[in-house]
Amino acid sequence: MSTCTTCPYCGVGCGVLAAADGSIQGDPNHPANQGRLCSKGTALGATVGLEGRLLQPQLNGRDVSWDTALHVVATKFAEAIRDHGPDSVAFYLSGQLLTEDYYVANKLIKGYMGTANIDTNSRLCMASSVAGHKRAFGSDTVPGQYADFEQADVVVLVGSNTAWCHPVLFRRIEAAKAARPEMKIVVVDPRRTATCQIADLHLAIQSDGDAALFNGLLTQIKARGLIDQAYVEAHVNGLEEALQAAGTGEGCGLDADQLAQFFDLWCGSEKVVTLYSMGVNQSARGTDKVNAIINCHLATGRIGRAGMGPFSMTGQPNAMGGREVGGLSNMLASHLELDNAAHRDAVQGFWQSPAMPEAPGLKAVDLFRACHTGKIKALWIMSTNPVVSMPEADFVAEAIRAVPFSVGSDLFAATDTMSCVDLVLPAAGWGEKTGTVTNSERCISRQRAFLPTPGAARPDWAITAEVGRRMGWGDAFEYASAADVFREHAALSGVAAALGRDFDISGLQNISDADYDRLEPQVWPIPAQGTAETRFFSNGGFYHADGKAKMLPITPPVLTAPVGDTLLFNTARVRDHWHTMTRTGRAAPLGAHMGEPYLEVHPVDADRFGLGAAALVEVSNPHGRAVLRVLVTDRVQAGTCCAPMHWTAQTAARGRINALVTGNVDPVSGQPALKMAQVVVKPYAVGWYGFAASAAQMQPTRPYAAIARSKTGWRAEVAGHKTPQDWEAEARSVLNLPDGVVSRFDDAASGMVRIAIYDDGALSGAFFAAPGPVGVARAATVDLIGQKVPAVRVLAGVPGADQPSKGAVVCACMDVGRHELQRAIAGGAASLPALMDCTGAGTNCGSCRPELQDLIAKTETQRMAAE
Ligand code: SF4
Repeated sequence: MSTCTTCPYCGVGCGVLAAADGSIQGDPNHPANQGRLCSKGTALGATVGLEGRLLQPQLNGRDVSWDTALHVVATKFAEAIRDHGPDSVAFYLSGQLLTEDYYVANKLIKGYMGTANIDTNSRLCMASSVAGHKRAFGSDTVPGQYADFEQADVVVLVGSNTAWCHPVLFRRIEAAKAARPEMKIVVVDPRRTATCQIADLHLAIQSDGDAALFNGLLTQIKARGLIDQAYVEAHVNGLEEALQAAGTGEGCGLDADQLAQFFDLWCGSEKVVTLYSMGVNQSARGTDKVNAIINCHLATGRIGRAGMGPFSMTGQPNAMGGREVGGLSNMLASHLELDNAAHRDAVQGFWQSPAMPEAPGLKAVDLFRACHTGKIKALWIMSTNPVVSMPEADFVAEAIRAVPFSVGSDLFAATDTMSCVDLVLPAAGWGEKTGTVTNSERCISRQRAFLPTPGAARPDWAITAEVGRRMGWGDAFEYASAADVFREHAALSGVAAALGRDFDISGLQNISDADYDRLEPQVWPIPAQGTAETRFFSNGGFYHADGKAKMLPITPPVLTAPVGDTLLFNTARVRDHWHTMTRTGRAAPLGAHMGEPYLEVHPVDADRFGLGAAALVEVSNPHGRAVLRVLVTDRVQAGTCCAPMHWTAQTAARGRINALVTGNVDPVSGQPALKMAQVVVKPYAVGWYGFAASAAQMQPTRPYAAIARSKTGWRAEVAGHKTPQDWEAEARSVLNLPDGVVSRFDDAASGMVRIAIYDDGALSGAFFAAPGPVGVARAATVDLIGQKVPAVRVLAGVPGADQPSKGAVVCACMDVGRHELQRAIAGGAASLPALMDCTGAGTNCGSCRPELQDLIAKTETQRMAAE
């Protein structure tokens, strides 16, 4: 028996059919995914076990009752407000929270505690899109729908590795292009990512070159007579000012021919969708970039109609829901404005609340700085891991520890952030709690429980409401259920709609508990009276006072060049992990794709700085330091480097790369420039490298270490400085296997030490160490753990003669490795369908298909070079 729910990861918001036995399928009836799931969604069943779960409140490491925990929270926040004023307290929330959780937290702190010091990790994700929307439209409105990508003639993906970060949307675009090959795809990205596999044109701009590119496009739109005069005259202000500021596109890092190709494509078809994501938003000029893109759509009237429009793709599953309840420090609930007295009065009147802040609160970077300076006396972090995800992450850890009282609500006590707080509260997780989320196309979907709530865990909205009651506001927080909260949220949206705002779901304000349980995915607006269009702005109707949109004059930034011997440091994501891996790190198939943190470095820079392939590199700047594996590749431009952001102190010795990112923020949105640090790179000298596979959980305790789940236990990449005197003791320590019988083989020629440990005749651990990067068949070694196999086979470090090497896993769903794929291609499966048919790779979620195509192309290139 399956339950219809929604994936808890990215902003695509796929529908999932989930069962208590862990079986997971895509929901064929959900409009976002129509049955598809990516590798992360497919592996959800492997993430819901109770291992490591926080099951009881813990105060300073000791279990306490809920009564004690809630009393402590209510008392500490009340004391801080009494002694230091409302602005001495703060909440830091998450786009992982459900709308109901977000609503209650926002109501408690703004309406009752009386401060706007509530911000969220969505500040790191799409705050610049929010700010750009509000500047252009007068409201934070996403005009379009996912169907627009399928109906467009040209899809432009800016700063978005859609193939890895929003895989199901990528699948939809890929399928649309397969059905209509004349459809054109343009990727604008400094890196050559997996998304480029379906691109007709990849524009490798320099970092932050986007504003100059779209400014140049605006000039071309004018030069080619494509301004939609009727639309602009009726609905848009600021055209002339924007045109005067627009240049030619020079300075974005592209040559004239590339610019011309882009201008021809964008201008040549009316049906253009321009999607933008983290590469645009996570910048010190992110809001300007958003407005440079929107300017082009407003000037041409290409907005709000089928197959056209600007489209902000959110990273998180409920970033949009957080925006709808006003979960950012500069917003009010229901897309009302904090700096508008009538809006503040309306919300306060609706809540009948004692307080309402008149000024915006602290945005994320400033919030943690205020923690560090002692301004914040009580801090509540819900469902997020800022010690990994925030810029200047080491500083953020210090800042949290500096707060006199800090509380965290999470699924796990062992996260980098929860280890910094005084009180941890066990929150109900995905599959256990119930509520709603809103995806990037404004579609509200239900998350439903299909598992019992473990231990003493509670939903976040219920925890927050209980604190509100204990602080003396019983009537305002007397919710019986998530449905109760949702009805109030929907009713408040009716108040906002009456004030002329876009967000309106008042048609759901009287929804019964039974109908809430049955609620089908619905795109807002959902007004109480009549029906509404699903797209916005085809006939104007903007939310500035005069009903018109605004085009902004954009001055592109001077592009940052690396100073001296530094490289520009970009941060990114991998295909199979989500944020700080607290969930995806539990699923063995997802750890097989990218098993350790790495730095992509261009071959020119690898030569320049003496970085050998697969060696280790120290990356540093005044903010922090990381040690990563070197991946030499021309996917990044010379002078730049890039690392994924997922690794934590729980999974790697020194892999928290956001410790290197500066807290430089966009002046309008407050979003940090997470993709623009300057770093020094140098070889990280070690005396030995190792690989380990164990049935026991290992810890990242060596100078370099990265651990990952495997299908037979755990796997680890390790390295150390001094060659151990006692290799057996070292192996036992790394493998976390104090007992068992050891077999060992030392290869004098290569210097490699090979150790196998057996427990009752079955292999419990295998350890390989050498003076250089270890060349063993990792997947094959992992497969042997738990088996009664002869030591000679384990210590060989290669698959048996009957089992050719699999290579690094490419297809996580079907467990197909790189070497298997290369053999199949060499054997004639040289097209994507043939390779899928032959190996099974790519036949489930399809997330690996860009890599399959890349392998086919590379093998073909090598074959031609050899001829
Ligand atoms: Fe989840 Fe993948 Fe769908 Fe995103 S694309 S919502 S991660 S299944």
